[in-house]
Amino acid sequence: MRESFDYLSPAFSVRFGPGRSAEVASAVAETGMRALVLATPQQADVAERIAAALGPAAAGIFAEARMHTPVEISERAAALVRQAGADCVVAVGGGSTIGLGKAVAARTGVHQVAIPTTYAGSEMTDILGETDGVDKRVRRDAKLQPGTVIYDVELTLSLPGSLSANSGVNAIAHAVEALYAGNGNPVISLMAEEGIRALAASLPAIVADPGDRAARTEAQYGAWLCAMCLRAVAMGLHHRLCHALGGRFELPHAETHAVVLPHAVAYNASATDQAMRRISRALGASDAVEGLFALNRRIGAPAALSALGMPEAGIDAVTDAVLAEPYANPRALERGPLRQTIADAWAGKQPRTG
Ligand code: NAD
Repeated sequence: MRESFDYLSPAFSVRFGPGRSAEVASAVAETGMRALVLATPQQADVAERIAAALGPAAAGIFAEARMHTPVEISERAAALVRQAGADCVVAVGGGSTIGLGKAVAARTGVHQVAIPTTYAGSEMTDILGETDGVDKRVRRDAKLQPGTVIYDVELTLSLPGSLSANSGVNAIAHAVEALYAGNGNPVISLMAEEGIRALAASLPAIVADPGDRAARTEAQYGAWLCAMCLRAVAMGLHHRLCHALGGRFELPHAETHAVVLPHAVAYNASATDQAMRRISRALGASDAVEGLFALNRRIGAPAALSALGMPEAGIDAVTDAVLAEPYANPRALERGPLRQTIADAWAGKQPRTG
């Protein structure tokens, strides 16, 4: 138990339950009149169903969301919002689409309704990362937080097993780092432990049967809790590594998180006793690092950054980048052990603690 902490209560509403994306018109009506529906090209059919549910409140569909939120796409979506006279966006999809919703809101001031269909968690944060072809810029602004979030398990059933597994570990990573965040608090730690438990229990069942509604509901509940952790407290070494890797080598977001997590936790284990106990309890494992590594194997998550396309020469570049701009972390960053951690993750070795 911490002796001293701050707790801030954010203002947004959450609707959770099967079929509740059908309530999108009433969610839009809470703040606006007409909404542009955003999606990726792969989820254009879902966008059409959401637009149909919106009826006359639909101002059109923009199904061009892409990973890393390229500025050029956000500008075009914002122009369409202005042209259509929309005062709201409905982003239906994963973190890429929800990121586009935030980018449009940043440019036009429109309200946002987010309907997440992965476990990445962007819908619960006021964080936006954008790329202009050269750099990824991340900013944080209370105005970027979607005002209404609808969790509808039905829209997650189509997420393939492998993507679900990686996205689920991406969510677990938010909760793991929240448990050892310097600015953590007891409420967030409760959410973190429960979020890890719910995802660890449900992901193997989802991989075995992606249509398992009960497991999907449990995973979505866990992902929501983990996303609340991401929003509330500072992320450490794991997220720093993933940002350095993703931006530099264009590695896939969720897969990168899945590979790195057991290694980052192994690096921090000696400095975070209480967090390790809570993580292992949530996983039902005797050791947090082994439990995370075993979960990855059980759900078929990738084990090596090399398999995701990271060149071996990148190990030094990432070590330098993390040391040059570290995030607050429970264990001080030392070049030798840090490089070893990255090299192990690159090669797909068993993580080593100490
Ligand atoms: P994604 O949004 O890029 O989606 C990956 C692919 O899966 C896309 O083709 C998408 O159309 C498809 N997809 C999504 N849901 C589906 C479903 N239910 N059925 C079938 N296909 C589906 O992936 P992601 O991992 O959700 O998001 C990654 C992005 O989100 C990254 O750019 C990351 O930086 C960002 N992110 C931001 C925050 C934040 O707080 N700002 C948090 C987490 C992630």
